[in-house]
Amino acid sequence: MKRLNKQCLVCGGEFLPKNVASVYCSPKCSKKAYKQKMLRLKKEEEIKVLAGKIPENKAFLSVPEAGILFGVAKRTLYRLVSQGEIPSVNLGIRLVRIDRSVMAEMFGPARSLPQPESAPKKKLYSLEKEDCYSIGKTGQFDHLIPE
Ligand SMILES: [Zn+2]
Repeated sequence: MKRLNKQCLVCGGEFLPKNVASVYCSPKCSKKAYKQKMLRLKKEEEIKVLAGKIPENKAFLSVPEAGILFGVAKRTLYRLVSQGEIPSVNLGIRLVRIDRSVMAEMFGPARSLPQPESAPKKKLYSLEKEDCYSIGKTGQFDHLIPE
């Protein structure tokens, strides 16, 4: 079977793929793609951190916050706000606040945040031996009881 030329995902140039999985024309392009991927991952990580700082119950978001949570460019948001497409509360220059629920209506659910690993539920009480004082030992606290 004749292999067809593919288009390199990085430079867009045509190349004859070595195998079906090849998507880059050269090691140079493959390296470049890897770098871009790493950069993207780093950016995503930063966004996650930023998004994590926005309280989940915050009803009114600043434009940058809304952009982070809903994955919309700030410029787009400012435009939509100035055009009245997004109703907003204006607390002054650059102090536009957007209703979170409006954002959710227009752009879908907010970025799902990584949930903190749920810690194993603590038992309300424990009957394990090491957690209980034996009758004999309770006496050592008698001096703490007011007379
Ligand atoms: Zn290439």
